[in-house]
Amino acid sequence: MAQAVQAVRRMLQAGGVHQIVTANGAMLVRAARDERIRHALNNASLAIADGIGVVLAARILGRPAFPRVPGVELAQEVCALAAAEKRRVFLLGAAPGVAAAAAEVLRKRYPGLQVVGVVDGYFRDDSVAIDAIRQARPDVLFVALGFPRQELWIASHRERLGVPVCMGVGGTLDVLAGRVRRAPQLVQHMGLEWAYRLMQEPRRWRVAISLPLVIVLAVVERVKEGWKRRQ
Ligand code: UDP
Repeated sequence: MAQAVQAVRRMLQAGGVHQIVTANGAMLVRAARDERIRHALNNASLAIADGIGVVLAARILGRPAFPRVPGVELAQEVCALAAAEKRRVFLLGAAPGVAAAAAEVLRKRYPGLQVVGVVDGYFRDDSVAIDAIRQARPDVLFVALGFPRQELWIASHRERLGVPVCMGVGGTLDVLAGRVRRAPQLVQHMGLEWAYRLMQEPRRWRVAISLPLVIVLAVVERVKEGWKRRQ
């Protein structure tokens, strides 16, 4: 988490446009067969392991170990940073009223935080949302449109938006606004936050079945790497 926050601080200092992705197993599985999603993920300035599937896949592949960094937590750390450095934050996404409620919570939690605009996630015309963001000139844009829409939305509009840090945040605004509860700490530490979410939102079964799938993909990749090394 500390490294991720440091990376965001550097992006803000450097300017330009940067995308942050909060990767989970479902994203990796979709990215494996969808070129556009793969491109968006591979072109991100920072990818954090939001889901346990990414941590397990890295372990299976023998990559250096890293812990989970939940996107909902990084988003709040970025708000703390934005408040301390007087950076401007914009919230895009979630159901009508949710982003505004999340903004109120953030302003209270991080005194001095400048939330310079909110637009809900059910706009019809991309240009309306883009114009609102451009006029507000934020330094940080949180996009809560769900995967893969938010990643593709940021990837295709980031140059026009000109926002230094754009981050897809999934259900973060719902959590901040108190509409959705996160799993208890113990469940999180057991690597079972996905199961808790599945119980709350059974329609997320597609995300949950990605966990065994991403493990299978990682094992296949590992075997392939082993074969290549032997040849
Ligand atoms: N959402 C939105 N517009 C849409 C579809 C979804 O703003 O057209 C919002 C939805 O209200 C929720 C978030 O996107 O706040 C998706 O959250 P979810 O936890 O499902 O994200 P995922 O884990 O699928 O990325």
